[in-house]
Amino acid sequence: MLLPDEQLSSVLGDRTAKALSRHLGLNTIADLLQHYPRRYSSRGELTPIAQLPIGEQVTVVAEVVEVRERRMKGKSGSILEIKITDGAGFLTLTFFNQSWRQKDLRPKVRGLFAGKIGAYQGKLQLAHPDYELFLEEVSPTEAKRWADLPIPIYPAASAISTWTIAKSIGIVLDSFADLTDTIPEEIRRESALLSAGEAIRKIHQPETSADWQQARETLKFNEAFLLQATLLQRRAANESARATSRPRKAEGFVQLLDRQLPFELTDSQRQVGDDIFADLEKTHPMNRLLQGEVGSGKTLVALRAMLAVADSDGQSALLAPTEVLAAQHYRSIERTLGEELAKKLGLTLLTGQMPAAERKKSLLQIVSGKAQLVVGTHALLAEKVEFFDLGLVIVDEQHRFGVDQRDALRLKGKQPPHVLTMTATPIPRTLAVTVFGDLDISSITELPKNRQPISSHVVQLSQPSLVARVWQRIAEEIADGRQAFVVCPRIDENDEDLEAENSEIPEVEEGLDFKRDVKKLAAAIPIAESLRQNPALANLKIAVLHGRMTSEEKSEVMSDFLARQIDLLVSTTVIEVGVDVPNASVMVVLDADRFGISQLHQLRGRVGRGEHPGLCLLLTSAENDSLALERVNAVAQNSDGFKLSEIDLELRREGDVLGLRQSGGRSSLRLLRVIADAQLIAKAREQVSRIFENDPKLQEHPDLAKALAQIEDQTRDNLAKV
Ligand code: ADP
Ligand code: MG
Repeated sequence: MLLPDEQLSSVLGDRTAKALSRHLGLNTIADLLQHYPRRYSSRGELTPIAQLPIGEQVTVVAEVVEVRERRMKGKSGSILEIKITDGAGFLTLTFFNQSWRQKDLRPKVRGLFAGKIGAYQGKLQLAHPDYELFLEEVSPTEAKRWADLPIPIYPAASAISTWTIAKSIGIVLDSFADLTDTIPEEIRRESALLSAGEAIRKIHQPETSADWQQARETLKFNEAFLLQATLLQRRAANESARATSRPRKAEGFVQLLDRQLPFELTDSQRQVGDDIFADLEKTHPMNRLLQGEVGSGKTLVALRAMLAVADSDGQSALLAPTEVLAAQHYRSIERTLGEELAKKLGLTLLTGQMPAAERKKSLLQIVSGKAQLVVGTHALLAEKVEFFDLGLVIVDEQHRFGVDQRDALRLKGKQPPHVLTMTATPIPRTLAVTVFGDLDISSITELPKNRQPISSHVVQLSQPSLVARVWQRIAEEIADGRQAFVVCPRIDENDEDLEAENSEIPEVEEGLDFKRDVKKLAAAIPIAESLRQNPALANLKIAVLHGRMTSEEKSEVMSDFLARQIDLLVSTTVIEVGVDVPNASVMVVLDADRFGISQLHQLRGRVGRGEHPGLCLLLTSAENDSLALERVNAVAQNSDGFKLSEIDLELRREGDVLGLRQSGGRSSLRLLRVIADAQLIAKAREQVSRIFENDPKLQEHPDLAKALAQIEDQTRDNLAKV
């Protein structure tokens, strides 16, 4: 489906266009047309006035009997009161300051009146009802049709109502010609799908519930189809690209490392290692996803791959999502290799916050090819960074990077390098194939032996005694010689950008302007201050760690924490991934509902890494029965990363599997649920494969080719913004 990407301001009034952009992130016609209703309500059953239930949404057929207008007591303004009857009972309609309605609502006029029934001074009334007047006699069937007409309810914000959205969409729908379909005609016929134009119209302006249901099915299929087409096209492009083969030596660096390890590789580590070595020998680029639970030893797998490339003098880059993690990878790789081997391989760190002189030294090592193992943050993506012979790129903790960034690195080499992506939020294999259809997949299915269990509990702020107990519990652990993390979603009071990955949370929940109450969320700096005042924690050494500190400050705090100079570390999500402090046993997460499921699972993986069992306490102000509480509970009740990823996918409204974030952080998937719609996705995949088999260049499917080109353009645009 190809949607117009003109700005909304070209069709809507300036004020409305601005409001849609500011509050809902809708900028183009395509954005608005894909802002689908969350649900539909109807005007309600046709009910005799005598039986109207208070508080319910109703529709009545009635005749106006009396019209009265009066001034409001003590205020300016007027109230228009219209008395109507269905012949048996009476009901009053009220309108504030809408005197002009008297023109239409005259005695003897008949019509349909809909709204929520209220009572005022013992009399039934409808305030500001929705109505439609009959110009002539209307049959009961027509009256029923109007009452049954589904009313779309949109995800709205306080400043922009679902009515305004519906009206804007109506204007847009009136003003454009038909849409181009990307799904070939024969497939549409075979699967009984609507055309794109029909589907868009019917999802926004259905006449029956069957209309919108059919429209949703069609649009979902459209999403699945384009998703699969994109993935399969990327896979094909990758297979036809050329890369340098990087065979490892039988008696090379990998073997050298394996011999000096203080432990045995797990079977899984060995197996995925073999997958990778086989890929590296090929003459087209590896594009593999390595899934493995938190703590399953992915870094070692990565290191062995890098060493294989070093066997033929190639360079490897390991890309970490944060400065802290990059520095830690660097140190732990140095430790694992031993000083001598690390030096021989030119192990080099490059991050954005390094002092200029050091940075320059690193850049020189990289461009000269002396640095065979490079560890860094996204600073490695900068244009200035040139490699002599980049053979392998490893992206750690994939959920923090989109496909976009991966692609940026691939463009670095003269020939595309091999790419390995590692994620600690694994998903079941069958699903992974559909979601990451452009990648080959390996999974580490076991943890190294002797891992400690982590128990997790949710503490609702509505239970103050439990909250007090949390801080006592921390004090006890520390008294036992352990250390603790306290994680907050923000840095300080003025911080409006959550470090928490709240993109995983539906942007706009119904009736709730998500950004508004951000200011109330726990912030690391003031929380640390208040914990220092907390009598339960008297005399403890408390420090802060967050993303606005310089890299020296951060690594100083981390090494102090590692050296047990700090008892309690209050931090933001900078410690989310990979941080390895074996003596830390407790973690408290404040405003836990503001973090995504996989993010909480990652965070929790920071404790229980040594000989002591871990404890994770998730504090939340989320209310009973909310989706927010459901997410937090899911984390507390499940320790299996595979299971959690599945729940995560289920609870998410929008996936972001293509890595195709549009400017406002919106995803290209609106209706498709990766789990619930697994069958549909599989069907789409089958049909897409058939098309590519018969018409690999899509010469007979120009509209599909155009849509795919548009997606890839968007990906590149996003890339440019990295
Ligand atoms: P993750 O998969 O979460 O990135 P890491 O690579 O950080 O996990 O590994 C966690 C810890 O397990 C590290 O301290 C690492 O040295 C250790 N480790 C890795 N492989 C093994 C193994 N086969 N046996 C024992 N410990 C291991
Ligand atoms: Mg890791």
